[in-house]
Amino acid sequence: MPPPPPDPVARLPEEWADVLREWGQPAFRAKQVFQWIHGRGVLDPEAMTNLPKALRARLAEEGLAPPLTVAARHRSEDGTQKLLLALPDGRTIESVLIPQGSSGAEDPIGGDEPEPGTRPVTQCISTQVGCAMGCVFCASGMAGLKRHLTAGEILAQVTLGRDLVDEGDRLRNIVLMGMGEPLHNYDAVARALRLMFRADGLGFGTRRVTLSTSGLIPEIDKLGEDFEGKVNLAISLHVPDDARRSELMPINRRYPLADLMEALRRYPLPPRRRITIEYTLVKGYNDTLADADALARLLGKLRAKVNLIPMNPVPDNPLGPPPWSVVEAFHDRLWERGVSTFVRRRKGDDIAAACGQLALAGETKKIRVALPVTS
Ligand code: SAH
Ligand code: SF4
Repeated sequence: MPPPPPDPVARLPEEWADVLREWGQPAFRAKQVFQWIHGRGVLDPEAMTNLPKALRARLAEEGLAPPLTVAARHRSEDGTQKLLLALPDGRTIESVLIPQGSSGAEDPIGGDEPEPGTRPVTQCISTQVGCAMGCVFCASGMAGLKRHLTAGEILAQVTLGRDLVDEGDRLRNIVLMGMGEPLHNYDAVARALRLMFRADGLGFGTRRVTLSTSGLIPEIDKLGEDFEGKVNLAISLHVPDDARRSELMPINRRYPLADLMEALRRYPLPPRRRITIEYTLVKGYNDTLADADALARLLGKLRAKVNLIPMNPVPDNPLGPPPWSVVEAFHDRLWERGVSTFVRRRKGDDIAAACGQLALAGETKKIRVALPVTS
């Protein structure tokens, strides 16, 4: 059996059992420790009041501690919260709590808005500090990869988020759409997902967790196999042809569209589920009706729905969103072609909280790839 991971926050109950047996502890302690961390979100051993003092001290000595601290917490008028979280090495990541009916929530245009205090909340979490993929419209991509997050750092965003939702609201959905490319950090992400799904821990149903990727084909296959297709998949497609997609998303040179579409067709989707296709509309670049037609053709019979995201402006980046009328026309054209399409709404802009455009304060550099920008 492989040794338990060094990161105590990311240990499964059976791994805790091995560790605690070595420490001479009775078997039931493993469940208790796991329950504190994952069931109750208590990551500081001092606060684990039903454990003997000596065990609490040992847990602290062996490195069990909250891996994240809240460095800043911004709230927008609609209840969206953006959390700036500090890691043990001083780097920061962001995570966003999005109540249904607000900001980046993926509702159809004109969905009903539940009252504050009763809302299901979606949390957007990060998987890396920065990102190596270099997509030209993305703040994380402009920053480059600083480091991978550990499974514990990914998971602790969720235990923290669950505590920080407004009273009465409930954390229901997790989207891996914050900073970073989740499939570039596969092992840590897979472990964090496994932990989130544990019924004796956080207890998320698989349909409540969505992983967004720029399209790393071998890892899409692996995810499908490891989780039997139960992790919802969102694909950042953005451009329906290889030449322009490679300009916007360098990863397309390695994994071009035809291969990506093949991978999506073989993803073991459970019945009645669909793959989400993310399409960030960039003004004058990928926003014509011909693009909508090409997208519809590309998707063909794939069980998919499209999320249109008007690009959020990024500092030092000349690209931006098209006017609303263009977004609407694109949306309508896709429906005419039989493609279910939704627009991600953008309230909460006052704190630039919309998920998927989280900046690395002070760490971005100027855009590297010149694109034609029309007005
Ligand atoms: N790396 C993964 C997940 C994080 S990005 C991925 O690329 O899918 C989450 C989503 O936000 C992606 O669809 C990404 O393309 C989109 N996004 C990034 N920057 C954006 C911006 N400035 N405006 C709108 N969407 C953006
Ligand atoms: Fe990375 Fe996703 Fe941003 Fe591309 S869009 S640079 S893959 S975080």
